[in-house]
Amino acid sequence: MATGKINVSVDNIFPLIKKFLYSDHEIFLRELISNATDATLKLKHLTAIGEAKVEYGNPQIEVKIDKKAKTLRIIDQGIGMSEAEVKKYINEVAFSGAEEFLDKYKDAGKDAGIIGHFGLGFYSSFMVADKVEIITKSYLEDSPAVHWSCDGSPEFTIKKAKKKERGTEIILHLAEDSTEFLEEGRIEELLRKYNKFMPVPIKFGTRTETLPKPEDAKEEDPAPTKEVANIINNPNPAWTKKPADLEDADYKNFYRELYPMQFEEPLFHIHLNVDYPFNLTGILYFPKLTNDLNLQKDRIQLYQNQVFVTDNVEGIVPEFLTMLRGVIDSPDIPLNVSRSYLQADGAVKKISSYITRKVADKLNSLFKEDREGFEKKWNDIKIVIEYGMLSEDKFFEKAENFALYPTVDGDYYTFEEVTEKLKAQQTDKDDKLVLLYASDKEAQHSYIEAAKAKGYEVLLMDSPIVAHLMQKLETSKEKISFARVDADHLDKLIQKEETQISKLSDAEKDSLKEQLNTVLGEGSSYTVQLEAMDSDAAPFMITEPEFMRRMKEMQQTGGGGMFGMGNMPEMYNLVVNTNHPLVGEILGTKTEKKRKRLINQSLDLARLSKGLLKGEELTAFIKRSYEMVK
Ligand code: ADP
Ligand code: MG
Repeated sequence: MATGKINVSVDNIFPLIKKFLYSDHEIFLRELISNATDATLKLKHLTAIGEAKVEYGNPQIEVKIDKKAKTLRIIDQGIGMSEAEVKKYINEVAFSGAEEFLDKYKDAGKDAGIIGHFGLGFYSSFMVADKVEIITKSYLEDSPAVHWSCDGSPEFTIKKAKKKERGTEIILHLAEDSTEFLEEGRIEELLRKYNKFMPVPIKFGTRTETLPKPEDAKEEDPAPTKEVANIINNPNPAWTKKPADLEDADYKNFYRELYPMQFEEPLFHIHLNVDYPFNLTGILYFPKLTNDLNLQKDRIQLYQNQVFVTDNVEGIVPEFLTMLRGVIDSPDIPLNVSRSYLQADGAVKKISSYITRKVADKLNSLFKEDREGFEKKWNDIKIVIEYGMLSEDKFFEKAENFALYPTVDGDYYTFEEVTEKLKAQQTDKDDKLVLLYASDKEAQHSYIEAAKAKGYEVLLMDSPIVAHLMQKLETSKEKISFARVDADHLDKLIQKEETQISKLSDAEKDSLKEQLNTVLGEGSSYTVQLEAMDSDAAPFMITEPEFMRRMKEMQQTGGGGMFGMGNMPEMYNLVVNTNHPLVGEILGTKTEKKRKRLINQSLDLARLSKGLLKGEELTAFIKRSYEMVK
């Protein structure tokens, strides 16, 4: 037996390890399973290239709990280590066998999928154990088994072991404060979190499988059962396969594997696959999204060579795509750096723009191949697309081909199509195309109908960030503007050369205005606006100026608006059509009482059609109306 000192620069690394990584101490298991996986994959590679003369077989990694002995064991059937290797790779903390292997077998790089340095590596086991043993035997012929042991001080012992089979067994004697790792439930949870898709099968205990009843079984006979190995992982997850080998159903099944609690099917998927200038594979899914942008718990998961790293992909995936689900696997994402550094990292930037491009290409081809299907999905995907158009200029350009502008009647146009279709009718006297829209078909019904009566099309723009998008479109396109149908009366929204002549004289107008203001009273939120319109347009109408309303909306959904707008009171215009017979009647009315009643009733009708009549005022209106019909 030999003893020695582990070669580290600090006097005693273990208290440090424990202290610094305390919050994250569960990762020790990921590290040890990664090492066991590496050891197995190395052997696989060596047998494949004929350098190892042993049978590779069907190696597994086994995790075992012994509650009595308070140990957790991780056993693999990989390449194992000779005494010299233990001395080099374990005792010299700075050495990595993984790095050396990749150096030596350069071509093994991508194919072998060696995980290598992840975090703290092997020594993270001291976060949870106060003694660690390694019993290992190299795959090389006549290499004696070795037993290494260390109790958390820099001193270790090394001696001969009896182990017959190749591979490595790591024995953790769990510390008093880490007995949670003796619970089956806790270990299974960790294995499923970090190792669900690792490339070597991981066995943890057994489970009971129900077998089909034999033909001659009686009704009351119980179905036979069998104890089978409880394999934690799927070693060949869908993203590691070629798209050509996968059917739509395979992608859907994999989605369910990733998110067992999701019952809604994804709308479509995007298979990512690059190997130059960086390595990246993965599958992204577009889930059904609602307008409610609440925190979602099922997020994109980031893997490195099939080992789970995090489900916080902020900085790696452009923000607008973090609403998607799925996996990304890349050995090229630096893991041990801060997020702000990550965003500045060149490789990460390339990854982010690659993903953006892939998503845009996929959307484009979905649109081209099946426009009808794409239109049906539009409502569920528009938030991601609109958000992408707002936040990434490259995506904005690409989205030109597939971003849709639906009408209130359910027709869908691209921007180019809609401008082409509307320009004859909706271009104003200054040669500007005005795109009328509604944000709520029900609430703005009467305004929509009025626009349609004039032969205009009304778009339906109802996502929460649409105000920002319109702002962006107005500044990046020439001579267009958006106006909500209730922003003003139509002749003002789309001003044409010919103007209507008012039937009222100036004196009559003044008198009308005065009468209206008297009824509205001091401090009213309505500003009277007299307009000469078609005699069949509504006599009274309440409008809300586009600019102010949009700024307020933009501020409510974050940024872009003017400071302080969010707290501004609502401002409305009361548009009065001076050419309507009712207005003439009001002016001609002799008694003050009757005139007041006519004005109040008309005003309430206008408020009703804008959805502003509520509570006590609504009750009074209904009462008054019954009296009038009597
Ligand atoms: P890394 O995995 O980055 O190399 P570790 O500290 O996790 O760093 O492991 C150090 C080295 O110890 C490994 O590279 C490998 O050579 C050796 N090693 C650790 N665990 C095993 C194992 N289960 N089988 C064979 N070798 C192992
Ligand atoms: Mg390691």
